[in-house]
Amino acid sequence: MNVQPFDDHESEVRSYCRSWPAVFTTAKGTRLWDENGRCYLDFFSGAGALNYGHNPPELKAALLEYLAEDNIVHGLDMMTVAKRTFLERFAEVILEPRGLDYKVQFPGPTGTNAVESALKLARKVTGRETVVSFTNAFHGMTLGSLSVTGNAMKRGGAGVPLVHSARMPYCDYLDEGPSLDVLEMFLADSGSGLDLPAAVIVETVQGEGGLNVASDTWLQRLKSICAEHDVLLIVDDVQMAIGRTGPFFSFEPSGITPDIVCLSKSISGFGLPMALTLLRPELDIWGPGEHNGTFRGNNPAFVTATAALSFWTDDKLSTQIAERADTMGAALGGIADRHRQSGAVVKGKGLARGIGFTDPAVASAVAAAAFDAGMLVETSGAESEVVKLMPPVNVTPDDLIEGLDLLGELVDSVIGDDVAAGVGERG
Ligand code: PMP
Repeated sequence: MNVQPFDDHESEVRSYCRSWPAVFTTAKGTRLWDENGRCYLDFFSGAGALNYGHNPPELKAALLEYLAEDNIVHGLDMMTVAKRTFLERFAEVILEPRGLDYKVQFPGPTGTNAVESALKLARKVTGRETVVSFTNAFHGMTLGSLSVTGNAMKRGGAGVPLVHSARMPYCDYLDEGPSLDVLEMFLADSGSGLDLPAAVIVETVQGEGGLNVASDTWLQRLKSICAEHDVLLIVDDVQMAIGRTGPFFSFEPSGITPDIVCLSKSISGFGLPMALTLLRPELDIWGPGEHNGTFRGNNPAFVTATAALSFWTDDKLSTQIAERADTMGAALGGIADRHRQSGAVVKGKGLARGIGFTDPAVASAVAAAAFDAGMLVETSGAESEVVKLMPPVNVTPDDLIEGLDLLGELVDSVIGDDVAAGVGERG
């Protein structure tokens, strides 16, 4: 395996390639292959950018046809047929059936671009500076997004003070349980020192922060606290939307309507860069070009995103995701039960699931053993203490069970058969 060019030329900042020392060539569905022909089962899904698996055939066909005809590839924010079709279909298939009335902003093509535009707009609309975010939040690596991110190591990379944000405990962060009392009290108390914020930004499930789940009632209360104080609610759905927890938007079961929604990762459905900032029409006070970016018009991504919307014209996919999520929850519950002595707990929701361990070394060892066994999984959480499993949302039952069985074996062998022995059936 020739890794010299990476060592010689690529920056030390690279990370996934250190955990997965293989040179990859092809990929299809839930599988990747390296240049030696070794096959890997993918329970990582491009960190949530490949929810429909690698090279989904319907999307690939649409993309190949689009390219073959010399259609527009790069278009800034010019009007193109591909963009028009996407906007129409997105309104028809996603927004209207859910009773959602949002204008669509195309920021730059990454998740952090969507977050930056949301923060900027919330400050412009309200004339306020502070944005409240939550413990263990992750919103991206540019300075505005970092200022609302929790992780100390990532924040440390900023090199400047990260300002104009305030942190509050996420749902279940405090031992006493769901924890919006502090936010409510601070907003009501003129002595709290919390300036009235422009917005609150929240993930419904913290993908990077350890697969912590906000309950529907917590989200509902958050929405009503925001409404009461005229504070905008931004849901960062970059990682948890597009079926990752079941529905298209992760906040749907809670019934809340955020003021602003950030989408990226799997919105193109094909791993092509694309992001959307959805805003209530009244908030759309941008001046032309006041926020822009060269790669807002990634037309091949509009084409695959439009093709992917055909998966959402009925509730078949969400129903199937719910079934797979039950299978996954039961299997992980079995593994966690066997390893209660190691503090194993099931984390997450839908098909964003994992097992947390008291000792982060266990999670790292399981992820490393998975690679050795031909499976890609990563860790999550402030100390990387959670083994994070994100198979494609259209994973087949066989692939899902194969991955879960393998994971169970790996956890058993990492923790030690003596601990596992006799503690119960495998999930
Ligand atoms: N928000 C959330 C919730 C994320 O999970 C991520 C990426 N992990 C981002 C924002 C940033 O997205 P990107 O890496 O595309 O900038």
